[in-house]
Amino acid sequence: MSASDCLFCRIAEGTIPARIAHADEAVIAFHDIAPQAPVHLLLIPRRHVGSAAELGTEDGVLLAQIHALAARLAREAGVAESGFRLVTNSGPDAGQSVHHLHWHLLAGRHLGWPPG
Ligand code: AMP
Repeated sequence: MSASDCLFCRIAEGTIPARIAHADEAVIAFHDIAPQAPVHLLLIPRRHVGSAAELGTEDGVLLAQIHALAARLAREAGVAESGFRLVTNSGPDAGQSVHHLHWHLLAGRHLGWPPG
């Protein structure tokens, strides 16, 4: 899939608008268009990766950047203490609908477990 075909690549390059919460050379965070919780951010790599199923040990720095950013955004949203969920859906059984690797940062209400 090329960047022009991928919704989240186009958000990353700025050709499709989004409510950006953070952007740097490697990762971007923006508000989900259909929030499932009072806090619902999406964290993505700028580089196109289809899903978590494509990750390898060479992506260790990216994973650290994503987790550090999630912790920072949770603190900024005031939910670091009350709690948050960081989750990535990979493939059809998990309900992945956008085929560019992303993590949902969900918080601000009690989140049930196990998920549906
Ligand atoms: P998933 O179903 O795990 O692939 O998550 C995809 C997420 O992207 C869903 O929560 C959608 O609401 C969200 N989404 C789809 N289009 C946009 C968009 N243009 N801007 C922000 N979030 C979006």
